[in-house]
Amino acid sequence: MYKEPINNYLHVHRHTKFDIKAILFDMDGVLFDSMPYHAEAWHQVMCAHRMPLSREEVYLHEGRTGESTIRIVCRREQNREAGREEINSIYEEKTNMFNRFPEARPMPGTRAMLDRIKADGLTPMVVTGSGQHSLLGRLNSSFPDTFRQELIVTAFDVKCGKPNPEPYLMALSKGRLEPNQAIVVENAPLGVEAGVAAGIFTIAVNTGPLDDSVLLDAGAHLLFPSMQALADAWEELYTAFKSFPTIDPITYEI
Ligand code: MG
Repeated sequence: MYKEPINNYLHVHRHTKFDIKAILFDMDGVLFDSMPYHAEAWHQVMCAHRMPLSREEVYLHEGRTGESTIRIVCRREQNREAGREEINSIYEEKTNMFNRFPEARPMPGTRAMLDRIKADGLTPMVVTGSGQHSLLGRLNSSFPDTFRQELIVTAFDVKCGKPNPEPYLMALSKGRLEPNQAIVVENAPLGVEAGVAAGIFTIAVNTGPLDDSVLLDAGAHLLFPSMQALADAWEELYTAFKSFPTIDPITYEI
C-alpha cells in the first residue's frame, strides 16, 4: 500500500532511492496535543480585537508566523494593515492566554514513534514555526535524550513561516541532509505544503478537526489518522522506504 506514493515521489523528484537518516517532526499537533489551546487562545484574543477568527480557521493558518496570521485576518475583517505595535501586543496577549491553559501533553503515540525511529538509528528533529518558549522549553523534559538542540528549527531561525519551505530547507541544512534523506511529519495543511515545497516526502497525521482532503490537497504523500496509527505502521513503512523503487530507474522517463 506504500509502494505507489513512494515510487511517485521518487519519480517526480528524480531520486533513485531513499536513504533516510532523519525524521523532521512538526511540534504543535504532532509532538504535543497543543492545538486546541492555540485555537481557543487565537479565537478569543482576535475576537476581542474585532478580528473574528473561528477556532477551526486557526487550524488552516497553523504553521504561519503569528504576525502573518494577524495581518491576514486584519486585512479581511477591517480592510487595513495591522500596525507593528498592534501585532506585537495581540501576539503577546495570545501567548499569555495560551500559557494560562493547562500544559499540553505529548500527543498519544508520539513517544512510541520516537522510540521506534531511534531504534532504527534515525535522527529525530523538530521543525516548528512556533516561538512559544513554554513549549519549546518542554521538548527536552517531555522527550528526554531525543532532540539535539542544534538540530531544532523554530520561529527564531527563519524569516518566512510555513507554507514557505524555508523552515524545512533550514532543517536539511542543519542536519546536512539531502531531501531524500529525510521524512516530514506534519498535521497542518500549510506545514504539509512547506514540506512538499522543500522536496521532502511528507506524511500528514490528521490530529485535528479538518477533513483529510484538506491535507491531501496540500500535497501530503501519505496520511494517517493519528500519531499512534503512524507509530503502529512505522516498521512496515520504513521497510517499504528501504525496499523501493521496485521499478528500474531507467524506465523513469518524463
Ligand atoms: Mg502543527
